[in-house]
Amino acid sequence: MQISYRLKPSYTSSDILKYDTPFATSEFSKWLSGQKSWYDDRRGPFIFANWNQITPNAPALVKLAHANVGKSPDIGHQKKLEQLSNPFIPQVEIILADGYTGRNGYPAPNSTHYGDDFVTFIIILLHPLSRGSIHLNASNPAGKPIIDPHFLEYEYDIQAFIEAAKFTRRLAAAEPLRSLWEGEHEPAAAVQSDNDAQWREWVRENMFTVCHPSGTVPMLPLAKGGVVDSKLVVYGTENLRVVDWGLMPVQISGHPQTAVYGIAERAAEIVIAANS
Ligand SMILES: Cc1cc2nc3c(=O)[nH]c(=O)nc-3n(C[C@H](O)[C@H](O)[C@H](O)COP(=O)(O)OP(=O)(O)OC[C@H]3O[C@@H](n4cnc5c(N)ncnc54)[C@H](O)[C@@H]3O)c2cc1C
Repeated sequence: MQISYRLKPSYTSSDILKYDTPFATSEFSKWLSGQKSWYDDRRGPFIFANWNQITPNAPALVKLAHANVGKSPDIGHQKKLEQLSNPFIPQVEIILADGYTGRNGYPAPNSTHYGDDFVTFIIILLHPLSRGSIHLNASNPAGKPIIDPHFLEYEYDIQAFIEAAKFTRRLAAAEPLRSLWEGEHEPAAAVQSDNDAQWREWVRENMFTVCHPSGTVPMLPLAKGGVVDSKLVVYGTENLRVVDWGLMPVQISGHPQTAVYGIAERAAEIVIAANS
């Protein structure tokens, strides 16, 4: 979920590329010709934190997680509960993004805040307990699969977002960040900091995915719900392998791409060894 702030007029963000067409055109030309440009990747800082760093309510969150899935036979749930007590495994990521990246889109032309510049705090729950599913459509196996992400299925996930959001507001209100912005854009007045019911509504309405799904074909023992073995071979077959992020049984505490490359390199070695 995201919390955005309107920058003071003396600051410019990449939102300028949305409202200043001549500037955007000129910067894009520079990018096309390999010059330094506003279209280069302009990522902001990232925070990776555990619950003790985010909130004094960390023990209550851990207790809630155990109440939610403590009896679950799912090995992913067991692993997540184990990791919750490990201070070296971050549970929350916060990205300070350049520009407005919220769900409602940059303000429309002629609206009050068109032409303003923003920063957005993107709050990512690294290890949600909710677990989605993907299955073939039994009545049309050649058609699109049926995907149900089961977002916010457990109360822990909602409370975790609320705690992380409250922390993020405190962060934005601390210097030197506070001197950068003139007002909170979203959720602003829709959520009072101490009103959990309003936070809950905001989370439910504004949460979205950062597109890092995994575990659709997990590399686990067959008895624990695995689909591929440690040589990437699908159980019950002899020469059918999966080389894909889907084999990661649980989320890592970060973005997957480099680990995907690692899986691909290792897979190449396995396939070469199996055929030589
Ligand atoms: C919008 C978005 C932003 C992201 N940003 C980041 C980021 O900043 N950092 C990061 O680390 N990760 C990011 N990710 C996640 C990352 O891209 C994925 O985790 C990663 O690409 C997964 O790799 P993969 O090889 O498992 O699958 P993919 O990269 O999805 O590769 C699957 C390939 O299979 C091909 N394919 C599918 N069906 C068939 C078929 N029937 N026959 C032949 N080919 C087929 C597809 O065309 C595709 O090329 C992002 C994902 C999205 C969607």
